[in-house]
Amino acid sequence: MRTLKDIDIDGKSVFIRCDFNVPKDEFDNITDDRRIRSALQTIRYCLDRDCKIILASHYERPEAGKYEEKYSLVPIAKRLHTLLKKEIVMATDVVGADAQSKVDALQTGDILLLENLRYEAGETSNDEAFAKQLASFADIYVNDAFGACHRKHASIYAIAQFFDQEHKAAGFLMSREVNFFGKVIEEPVRPFVAVVGGSKVSGKLQALTNLLNKVDKVIIGGGMAFTFLKAQGYEIGNSLVEDDLLDEARDIMEKAHDLGVKFYLPVDFVVAPEFSENTAVKYLPSQEIPVGWMGLDTGPASARLFREVLNDAQTIIWNGPMGVYEMDKFSKGSFKMSHHIAETHATTIVGGGDTADVTQRAGDADEMTFVSTGGGASLKLIEGVKLPGLEALKI
Ligand code: AMP
Repeated sequence: MRTLKDIDIDGKSVFIRCDFNVPKDEFDNITDDRRIRSALQTIRYCLDRDCKIILASHYERPEAGKYEEKYSLVPIAKRLHTLLKKEIVMATDVVGADAQSKVDALQTGDILLLENLRYEAGETSNDEAFAKQLASFADIYVNDAFGACHRKHASIYAIAQFFDQEHKAAGFLMSREVNFFGKVIEEPVRPFVAVVGGSKVSGKLQALTNLLNKVDKVIIGGGMAFTFLKAQGYEIGNSLVEDDLLDEARDIMEKAHDLGVKFYLPVDFVVAPEFSENTAVKYLPSQEIPVGWMGLDTGPASARLFREVLNDAQTIIWNGPMGVYEMDKFSKGSFKMSHHIAETHATTIVGGGDTADVTQRAGDADEMTFVSTGGGASLKLIEGVKLPGLEALKI
């Protein structure tokens, strides 16, 4: 992969596609600015080479064409200012008159942040005309948005065609992420354990199937566990389930068995009659979920079991929380998992915005070997799928 170091950027204007899609709490405070801090190495490198810098990112999923304040990147500009101790010029649009005039006024060492790319419909539709407008802002294109590089969007994919090989490259974060995942997946020190949680099996089906060929043990948690439990014939009440995937779930468990991969499901849950913070809860074995109730977190017995399973691990990858960790009552399973993983002597890789958020809130982020900034993108790497963002840099 060609990185920034392989091309000449001295004194040029550089467009850096970042992933500033950071989690915020109910008061709009950024709860984990890892994705912003992770971009600093590339930004500083460009500053040191007297570049004019144009930063761009998406933030969540605004309705295209509607400039709603809650999706604005202004809080990101403020955090960048705090971290870099430099003025960040903020455009009020993406490719409109304000952005254009601010691009034109850029001096050496200036940093401009464009507004949320997804305010423009052309971003998600990979529109060429929109990509061309973005490309016209700079001499050099740098993709450092690992968390978004699995999406074929204009600022990730279409834009790259307007730059030749000498004028485009991956940023340092992108290069670190891809190399780290590649190495761990291809040459893991064993036992290699995958911990997979989160809401749905569907989003992780392919990754799970692929992982079975590489790992020694799999631990399943989160909402996705119920599809596996139902596939085994257990009552799961009103818990999250994907009925159309029961067969696939059975296939995965069978494949694990055939390959000799140990497959662990939660043995107990924190269950509640409704999806709410203020509801009554019970701690029950997984075979005793009452009709009408739902499992919203893995229970204490599962935590102990998982700790045993992780005990001899030498490599652990973790993607997806064990429960609805956003609500205090259902956060214990995820926090305990975070502590257990952090306490091992294994190489530990955490992937996914939510999972990174869990380790941060649990105070374990610094104990992990590597916290990836990209959930979906890291899953695609595990699936062995080519990432559009990387492919576009090669053409
Ligand atoms: P994902 O994006 O697939 O990694 O899913 C992350 C989300 O899964 C988090 O927002 C959790 O709240 C949610 N989640 C985890 N466990 C459960 C559960 N038992 N029931 C419903 N949602 C869950």
